[in-house]
Amino acid sequence: MALAPNVYDAEPIPEAARAEIDRLLASGDLFRYTAPENAPVALLEAEFAQALGVRYALAVASCSAALFLALKALGLPREARVLIPAFTFAAVPSAVIHAGCVPVLVEVGANYRIDMADFEAKLTGDIGAVIVSHMRGHTSDMDAIMALCNARGVPVIEDAAHSLGTLWHGRKIGTIGKIGAFSFQSYKMLNAGEGGILVTDDPDVIARAVIMSGAYEHNWKKHKGPRGQNDPELAGAFARWQNRLPLYNTRISNLSAAVVRPQLPELARRVRDGLANHDYLAARLGACPWIEVPAALAPETRAPDSIQFNLVEMSDPEVRLFTAIATERGVAVQVFGLSDDNARAFWNWEFLPEAPGPLPKTEAMLMRACDTRLPVRLKRPELDFIADVLIDAADTVKGAALSYGT
Ligand SMILES: *Cc1c(COP(=O)(O)O)cnc(C)c1O
Repeated sequence: MALAPNVYDAEPIPEAARAEIDRLLASGDLFRYTAPENAPVALLEAEFAQALGVRYALAVASCSAALFLALKALGLPREARVLIPAFTFAAVPSAVIHAGCVPVLVEVGANYRIDMADFEAKLTGDIGAVIVSHMRGHTSDMDAIMALCNARGVPVIEDAAHSLGTLWHGRKIGTIGKIGAFSFQSYKMLNAGEGGILVTDDPDVIARAVIMSGAYEHNWKKHKGPRGQNDPELAGAFARWQNRLPLYNTRISNLSAAVVRPQLPELARRVRDGLANHDYLAARLGACPWIEVPAALAPETRAPDSIQFNLVEMSDPEVRLFTAIATERGVAVQVFGLSDDNARAFWNWEFLPEAPGPLPKTEAMLMRACDTRLPVRLKRPELDFIADVLIDAADTVKGAALSYGT
């Protein structure tokens, strides 16, 4: 019998990282602001900005730090209310609180995307900003979100931590809102262990974020726009904010940048393989009457490295039995709302400053939505193994129930 695939290991880091890391170790040049120019972090920012087609990028310690800086860069007043989806990672409401703001949770539907009726209802005059979390790479209706937010003058931050490579009408996710944030944590498309990056076209936003990330004194001079040093708008913005902002020191080290840079040319292949793997498995699972894989929205081209699906017509005990059988046979499945202390179940965010109010749609989804890792390096026999185990587990659970009924 085939062995269960290992879904936890990441891909090896490209060999090219080794020489650069050796060079950094030999020179001890690990701090981004030591070299007069072309530090690995600065090169990563320039390459990432170019790959995404944006003017500015700022690499930092994590995507959470990028989200925190994004909110601070917008200059929101204390206690400003920030709309976030109720289905996201606990780091997102945490970043809002860290920035001195108050998270307001919006319903998410059975397809893991923001419920637009609830979004519109909660986008009231006191909302200072919106964070759209493209959770597990599922893109909400960005056309509707941007139209509503632009009409009310509310800035949109895209939490694209887990969405690098996703397209919306062919546009790169993370470049549609005013600010985009991505993660380099090991479970994301580019792996530095830890790290994140903020992107924007707005010179004031980037200047403020750069200074607050810890570009003390005149270190901001080592940050450039698409035209190199020759960006009067950027220089003007830095001059405006010099000495006027706190330094939160959320920088990233040259070592992390040296690990990420050689992965950038791998991104297109990873996205292609991840999507092909996901769609193959989704088609197989879709043939099972107890499993539903929600479709992407029409304008969306996904870049998944995991799969989510809903169990249908199962009670809570049946859902628990399903995950136990699948996990026992080697395919780890978590149901967001049923695993203890899950960081993506909003009722576990007991640190929220305000009770989130009723969120019945999100809650119903979280109680039936399964999550399985699907590293892009998996091959067909491994995907078939996963499909067989999941379908078999569902059939076992429901088969037992059906035979009682007859
Ligand atoms: C991973 C993730 C984050 C947090 O990223 P870090 O780099 O670990 O801070 C935030 N939002 C989403 C949707 C994520 O998947």
